[in-house]
Amino acid sequence: MRDALEELLRRAEEELRHVSTAEGLAELRTRYLGRKGLLTTLLRNIGQVPPGERPLFGKRGNEIKEILTGRIEAALASLSAAAEEARLRSERIDVTLPGRPLPFGRLHPITQVCDEICAIFSRLGFTVVEGPEVETDYYNFEALNIPKDHPARDMQDTFYIEDNICLRTHTSPVQIRTMERMKPPVRILSPGRVYRPDSDVSHTPMFHQIEGLMVDKGVTFGDLKGILTYFLRRVFGEGIDLRFRPSFFPFTEPSAEVDIRCVMCGGGGCRVCGQSGWLEVLGSGMVDPAVFANVGYDPEEVTGFAFGLGIERIAMLKYGISDIRQFFENDRRFLDQF
Ligand SMILES: [Zn+2]
Repeated sequence: MRDALEELLRRAEEELRHVSTAEGLAELRTRYLGRKGLLTTLLRNIGQVPPGERPLFGKRGNEIKEILTGRIEAALASLSAAAEEARLRSERIDVTLPGRPLPFGRLHPITQVCDEICAIFSRLGFTVVEGPEVETDYYNFEALNIPKDHPARDMQDTFYIEDNICLRTHTSPVQIRTMERMKPPVRILSPGRVYRPDSDVSHTPMFHQIEGLMVDKGVTFGDLKGILTYFLRRVFGEGIDLRFRPSFFPFTEPSAEVDIRCVMCGGGGCRVCGQSGWLEVLGSGMVDPAVFANVGYDPEEVTGFAFGLGIERIAMLKYGISDIRQFFENDRRFLDQF
């Protein structure tokens, strides 16, 4: 009977060597060590062993049970370790490989220039106000002293949606909406998109304007000059030369266009400045009393000035860009330079 035990151990070990799956090991365990397993059955038959040999037979039987249990468990453990290792190998990341760069986004040059202008004026106490891009004829024209059939309407070709509804041609309607809402003093800046049916190297059907308005008791043309001079020096540099040139706008009186000494040629004359040595950068003037009357302000009591400029124009001069359409083509080679 002792030999039967040793033979069983030898066979089990032999089989173990050929089992390579967890299922196979489980099956082997049941077949040898289960309740009706080979070893269990052999040990149950201890009655057939001569009484003197029984203690040794039992002892060896238990040893074999422990040996087999240990071997099977070790085999199971090394199987799962191998599986884990295979999983790790398949998921392995080579941290020494160069990374794939993620391109950083950045603000569009028009947004950058707009933010810069707003920051300069906010230091002067101006707050930013926005308004609708689809406007009524009243806010876009009439309240700004541009009645129907006024020749000034020819200066601003207009996209009409219906008879009295248009895409705003300037940000000036925001001035009217603001003054209707609040009493003086007013000190606002109004940036936004505006629309005119034009398209060439210096015009796009949609572009951006910033308009400023300051109304209070005793605001003078001197304030206008001082603030616009300060602003243009912040944008184009302390040394910039500028001049105020008489002009006409229906909503300001007197009106002035502001030119800076050409940033390309320094005033000698070039293609950009049309050989004049000067570049027009913004329009301005003292608010026409007729506009104040439209919003219920007393022109005898308050005065004010307004100015407006194209953000693309400022950006083109600041960065030396010759074609306005580049701002809207979304060519990364262009945009990455800002
Ligand atoms: Zn020039």
